Amino acid sequence: MKRWFPLGMALLVLGCLITNCAVVPETGRRQLMSMSVQEEAQLGLQAFQQYRKQKPVSQNTRLANRVRQVGRRLAAVSQVPGAQWEFVLFEDNEPNAFAVPGGKVGVNTGIMRIAQDDAGLATIIGHEIAHLTARHAAERLSQKRVAQVGAGIVGAVFPEANALNTGVGVGAQLGLLRFSRAHELEADQIGTLLMARAGYDPREAVAFWQRFAAYKQQKGSGSSLEFLSTHPLATRRIAALQAFVPNAMNEYRL
Ligand SMILES: [Zn+2]
Repeated sequence: MKRWFPLGMALLVLGCLITNCAVVPETGRRQLMSMSVQEEAQLGLQAFQQYRKQKPVSQNTRLANRVRQVGRRLAAVSQVPGAQWEFVLFEDNEPNAFAVPGGKVGVNTGIMRIAQDDAGLATIIGHEIAHLTARHAAERLSQKRVAQVGAGIVGAVFPEANALNTGVGVGAQLGLLRFSRAHELEADQIGTLLMARAGYDPREAVAFWQRFAAYKQQKGSGSSLEFLSTHPLATRRIAALQAFVPNAMNEYRL
């Protein structure tokens, strides 16, 4: 029986012949991977160091501690080999968050009002850790290498790239790219699993994105908020999340 073979899969197989493939933990998706964990982490740690020099860290120790506590609980149930975890609350009104390979997670103070509680915070941080679990940055870079697009760029690709890109000059140096919608949805899927395992109700992820969608509506469509523009449309994302929740609930200990 003849089977139609999607072009994307053909390219993946071709890419795997030239370089390497990896399997994403939790989802089992095969991904193109031509970058070592060490190489990826080195780029991530460099970028984070630079970012930190140029962005003020929040002086709100109570909030910063909450971010750290929630982050540590999620990190403890995640699979990110060699991560040197650090969770930093940055003073920035833009509702955004990011993670870079090596285990560094940044959360902006501006997202706290939408997070509202620890479960909301766990939604954000779980999503960011999930990008690291699935090695999305290294995958994007591997794809670029295979496609020979952006040759000559000192390339590194990080989640929520614009968070690092905004006004701090790091983006220009590293040639940052945004993630695809598929990556964002995969991060949501893995994120709900991490939430459940860490004891946060994964249904709260749906509630968080509903609050975020309401916020976006309030701000109007002309908003240039990075976390919004790099993430899938709210309605699609919420529908996808609702489909992930039953599976995550299986791991949620009441
Ligand atoms: Zn993301």
